[in-house]
Amino acid sequence: MQPSDLLSQHFRIDIGHQKALKRLRISTINDLLYHLPARYEDISDVQSVEGLEKGQEAVVYGQLSGLKTRKAWKSKKPIAEGYVEDGSAKIKIMWFNQPYIAKMYADGMYVKLAGKVAGSEGKLYLSNPEVEPLDALPIDRHDSIFKDTETTDDTIYPVYRETKDITSKWLYHTVLKCFEKDVLKTLRDPIPEAILKKYHLPDLATALVWVHSPKKAEHAESARKRFAFEEVFYIQVQKALERAAVSAANTYTFKTNPEHVKEFVDRFPFTLTESQDKSITTILEDFNGTHAMGRLLEGDVGSGKTAVAATTAYAVATSRPPEGLGKKLEFGNLQVAYMAPTEILAKQHFESFIEYFKHLPIQIGLITGSGCQKFPSKSNPDKPTNISKAQLLKWVKNGEVPILIGTHALIYKSVEFKHLAYVIIDEQHRFGTNQRKQLAKKDARLPHLLSMTATPIPRTLALTIYGDLDITLLDQMPAGRKPVITKVIGPAQTDEMYEHVRSELLAGRQAYVICPRIDEPDLNKQSAINAKSVIAEAKRLKKNVFQDALIECLHGKMTPKEKDDVMRRFNNHDIDVLVATSVVEVGVNVPNATNIIIEGAERFGLAQLHQLRGRVLRGTHQPYCFAVTESKSEKTQERLKALATAKNGFELAEHDLQFRGSGELYGAKQSGLTDLGMEAIKNLKLVEAARNEARHLVGQHPDLRKAFPLIATRVAAISETLHME
Ligand code: ADP
Ligand code: MG
Repeated sequence: MQPSDLLSQHFRIDIGHQKALKRLRISTINDLLYHLPARYEDISDVQSVEGLEKGQEAVVYGQLSGLKTRKAWKSKKPIAEGYVEDGSAKIKIMWFNQPYIAKMYADGMYVKLAGKVAGSEGKLYLSNPEVEPLDALPIDRHDSIFKDTETTDDTIYPVYRETKDITSKWLYHTVLKCFEKDVLKTLRDPIPEAILKKYHLPDLATALVWVHSPKKAEHAESARKRFAFEEVFYIQVQKALERAAVSAANTYTFKTNPEHVKEFVDRFPFTLTESQDKSITTILEDFNGTHAMGRLLEGDVGSGKTAVAATTAYAVATSRPPEGLGKKLEFGNLQVAYMAPTEILAKQHFESFIEYFKHLPIQIGLITGSGCQKFPSKSNPDKPTNISKAQLLKWVKNGEVPILIGTHALIYKSVEFKHLAYVIIDEQHRFGTNQRKQLAKKDARLPHLLSMTATPIPRTLALTIYGDLDITLLDQMPAGRKPVITKVIGPAQTDEMYEHVRSELLAGRQAYVICPRIDEPDLNKQSAINAKSVIAEAKRLKKNVFQDALIECLHGKMTPKEKDDVMRRFNNHDIDVLVATSVVEVGVNVPNATNIIIEGAERFGLAQLHQLRGRVLRGTHQPYCFAVTESKSEKTQERLKALATAKNGFELAEHDLQFRGSGELYGAKQSGLTDLGMEAIKNLKLVEAARNEARHLVGQHPDLRKAFPLIATRVAAISETLHME
């Protein structure tokens, strides 16, 4: 058996399994071996139902059946009840005063229950047990895999991520069979031995045994650390390669006179913060260097990233390409492409830029899916005008329009620049070297890149996702901002909250109401059961709460045009209350909206809540944020209270990382990391080690494919999935 063999060469695989394996992206033996357990269950504390005795605090694993709700015979209080069966016996379960429990779980579900055994002999039941749903009972504890082993202290077994048609148990036994067929001897470890030694990581074969069938919890942990390192390492190698490619490419080099910049900046209706000033200086220095800049500008919502973008864009749009120097060309200054994630935002940036550039002979274009504009209009020099796409593209191509703002439409094939020297990306992750090259088209020079984000992510994640970029923080808020007054609202306090918002609306302000979902309850997801929906909540608010207000919805199922329309009307104050999903989180700017109510706040990460709250941080009026939760859990209350006290989004992101599953971490989706990789993100030392080793390796061996073919193959596979989108 070879790692590269197809599973089907060695095992009989029925159709169901085939489909399931495909979904799990497992086709070879190697894929299977690298399909690591999601977690481990410690079954040392588990009792079998058969031996339970009255008064005992019991933990059992089993399958639910007979769930229903009824009223207690005398008190008429609601009781949810059912049974759990674990293969040894069946026992009744009763939950008092929690009628909804029977609706939250379904017959046939696998669960872990922890509760007290009550009742009388022959009529025992589990009283008010806590329920933890499981994907399956992966390995029957009665045919325990540890039966034959001498260790008895640690009774842990692996639990694999499952999918329909394939159980954790099957995966586990198939892995063991591969081990029996001596596959481990044929493995070659891609990670150089020196690195393993340096960080005390087990070699591949050992790690595989330890991760799939650990005899000790420490072994599993050590093996997982190795695989986590390996995953982060490949990503870092890929980033290091991108960095090297950028360094090697030609770019535009130009110097900007500080006086020249000052003229532009002095027209802002505010003084730049020190942070903004420094970022601008750094970027201008990069423009004057010989390598194309790759820089991430990370700044909380409202920290003023647009001003940095505009000032640096100004420096570019007023510079000449090297071959144009000294010549009196009509057009042909360096060009800027500024990409925003949504039409709403692209338009907002376009409008801000018009404000900043209107005194200059610099034309600005806007390109989105629903049309194109150009500033200034020929007939009205203070206004933009609608123009055809063909016309705009012509002017971009001949260099007449030096600044082009837009959505994804910017990177279509048809868009060509004359001298694209600077690409600014707002809230768009993973804009790689390839896309940059694509934008530059035939131009042999790679444009400078500024990627801007308000997504508060922990440092380790930033180092991983943006490993190829230099990072600049805008960690200062403009002076005079009123901090948002943030309150955690329980069910008893909603009247007071609505009273307040009503008075704000009367005073001429506007409000956001954020709901976790759009419409139809998703009954398959337990978590969705009580979540408020945008559409229903808008109706309810209209009927019962803000009768005199103009209320509208905004959510992801609307077309860009519909969204745009609603946003425009909200902006014009034709709408008082905007009920929305978290789509409003990215960059929308309506200064008069000073109140935000976030329903089901416990469902959001702190960093995301912080970003939502940033929506009301735009004006001169006192802003308010209400985090509404029905959760009575002390942990949730604590967590939400951190919102009121944390100094900035980054602090909250670190909080999320430590106290919430890192899989739910903000920014995690973009990272391309597996759950294990996400776990690794908690470990700054590991991430830094992986990054240093990767940069070192790439620096030492520019031709990675020759020196480390195994690493090169893995890295190529990663960049493929990363660029798939
Ligand atoms: P973000 O970083 O979230 O993109 P923006 O660039 O949209 O923030 O800026 C938010 C608001 O703050 C804008 O109305 C902008 O004009 C204003 N602003 C930017 N810089 C400053 C500053 N230094 N002082 C005061 N207001 C500023
Ligand atoms: Mg912004």
